[in-house]
Amino acid sequence: MLNIVLFGPPGAGKGTQAEKIIDKYNLVHLSTGDILRSELADKTKLGLEAKKFMDKGELVPDEVVIGMIETKIDQNPVAKGFIFDGFPRTTAQAEALDKLLLKKGTPITAMLMLTVEHEELIKRLLNRGKDSGRRDDQDISVIENRIRVYNNETAPLINYYEKQGKYRAVHGMGSIEEIFERLCHTIDHL
Ligand code: AMP
Repeated sequence: MLNIVLFGPPGAGKGTQAEKIIDKYNLVHLSTGDILRSELADKTKLGLEAKKFMDKGELVPDEVVIGMIETKIDQNPVAKGFIFDGFPRTTAQAEALDKLLLKKGTPITAMLMLTVEHEELIKRLLNRGKDSGRRDDQDISVIENRIRVYNNETAPLINYYEKQGKYRAVHGMGSIEEIFERLCHTIDHL
């Protein structure tokens, strides 16, 4: 199995690239952000609870997102592998994911980090806010908070995966196709 954590700050292009990777490698895309937004659209209790955090650009509690990921993994028993997008975002989430995958006997293959300059992230997020109507992409103070939360709580995972020998950085600037080619090159050489 090929299990990839697609990593990087908000606006790095994880969702866009994950869609292309799953097509080429026949994997299942698990985005906690997408799952939370769909819960919210369905007005479930979980979605409405999560909204309070999402609107402020704060993280939804670990146990909520870990439970969601566990359910989705269990719902896809014959998957050839998973792309984790926007998960894990804390050390507790990364440890829980390792435990879940250990039970399945299929560990994380690699963590691919998309590196993008700060100004470019802000530009992409504001553009996405205009195009998609995502509320958390329309308010510059929420965007800046998400990047701050990323730097404080999520970026330490680089070290977590580096220690496991699984960390790979991929230059995330340029066209969607150029970045996709770099990711494929990295995946093909894992
Ligand atoms: P994203 O679509 O990945 O940018 O996520 C949008 C929002 O959903 C984030 O700002 C968080 O509020 C929440 N979220 C998504 N994934 C996670 C996660 N793994 N842990 C905690 N909160 C998350």
